[in-house]
Amino acid sequence: MPERFLSELRDAVAAGRGQFEYLRDLGFDEVSAAARIGTTLAGPAQGGETLEKIRADLESCGCCGLCKTRKKLVFGVGNPQARLVLVGEAPGREEDEKGEPFVGEAGRLLDRILFAMGLQRDEVYICNVLMCRTPIIRVPEPE
Ligand code: SF4
Repeated sequence: MPERFLSELRDAVAAGRGQFEYLRDLGFDEVSAAARIGTTLAGPAQGGETLEKIRADLESCGCCGLCKTRKKLVFGVGNPQARLVLVGEAPGREEDEKGEPFVGEAGRLLDRILFAMGLQRDEVYICNVLMCRTPIIRVPEPE
């Protein structure tokens, strides 16, 4: 295995461990937290909402103003029935251009991490908290 990949994998595992420790400190159990998120996305939402309907609604969302500078809405992809949901922060330049989360360098690293875990991308669900790219890195505004 190339040393660069091992180094990236070690960094990712360390970062993931920190996230799980943070969740544990908040009182979450790691497995049940992931399953709860997956259930929310996979099942029919209140009022018969589906991921497709939510996506369609967000295409015209202007709640926070980031829609004005985005190229494409970056909605989640993957298996809506997945038990593992990976949630990033916000789309980057390549995600904004393609309209898909975790593409480019970050996506290739994620694919390698999933492969090392014995998973394929279509076995998990991948999304971001923000669906539109922030043009600059800044402190979040109230919206
Ligand atoms: S980032 Fe989210 S809330 Fe803001 S405009 Fe885009 S879809 Fe709406």
